[in-house]
Amino acid sequence: MHLLVVEDDARLGRLLKRLLEGDRHLVELAPNGTDALDVVSMAGLDAIVLDIGLPDISGLEVARRLRDDGNQIPILMLTARDAIDDRVRGLDSGADDYVVKPFAYEELAARLRALDRRRRDGNGRRGVVLRNGPISLDEVHRSVKVADRSVELSPREFSLLECFLRHPGQVLSRQQLLDHAWPYGDFLTENSVDTYVHYLRDKLGKLAAARILTVRGVGYRMAEA
Ligand code: CA
Repeated sequence: MHLLVVEDDARLGRLLKRLLEGDRHLVELAPNGTDALDVVSMAGLDAIVLDIGLPDISGLEVARRLRDDGNQIPILMLTARDAIDDRVRGLDSGADDYVVKPFAYEELAARLRALDRRRRDGNGRRGVVLRNGPISLDEVHRSVKVADRSVELSPREFSLLECFLRHPGQVLSRQQLLDHAWPYGDFLTENSVDTYVHYLRDKLGKLAAARILTVRGVGYRMAEA
């Protein structure tokens, strides 16, 4: 793919460029939003990796301007770990998906592949739907279904499920789940993770709940998708 990486952290920008080029992508680098908009208007790009925190105009504003101009290029947003609203605002501004910093390169690469697949399937922007077994979670509309049944989740339960769905097959400790699902902490203890997992399993129903496995003494693991 021909990619534009917009990142003001020069070291991270160079690292991403090198790794992506290692995966045979052609990579342009822009250190701020203004340059990014210039590059997008010229080059025939396939996708943008866009940091939210930029020195001039924010990544959110870059995404908004592109969408306002009718540009539907896939956008993968890089959001800060402690800014829970950034994920929602990023998607609202027109981003197709996001990765939370700090991220493993593999996660970013996988998200880019998914964006490219969607683009080539001609589905355009449909929002991000995470699936695992009978469970599907629509991140844009903030809705969850098990098979065809809609499931009403509280915001905390939703965040928790989203975290599981984003890390299938991976053992997540209670602390990791707290950090991922509730970055602001909310004064929750590790015990409250168990409570919310219990609520979540209850609402998902037996079949779907069985996909969230307890890892004794450590935490939880979502079955492989
Ligand atoms: Ca930044």
